[in-house]
Amino acid sequence: MEMAADGGHASVPAMTAPRCPTCDVRLATGLESPVFPFCSQRCKSADLGNWLTGRYVIDAGAVEEESASPADLGDGQGPPHE
Ligand SMILES: [Zn+2]
Repeated sequence: MEMAADGGHASVPAMTAPRCPTCDVRLATGLESPVFPFCSQRCKSADLGNWLTGRYVIDAGAVEEESASPADLGDGQGPPHE
């Protein structure tokens, strides 16, 4: 069996400055801000409201697993023959 290389999703553009997820403004204060990663308390509350109202959907359970089929398991016992 051969495993195909799954490339393409590994590159992420370097982040220069964090941006407010709500209004997409560049944050000037950075990590020291009490409302990070938001630009203001207002945006932080707005984002929290989005979560509470269900506008954001958490995509859980989307983990890909490789399932080995029982047929591929070699048990070391050959076919019975007399
Ligand atoms: Zn904002």
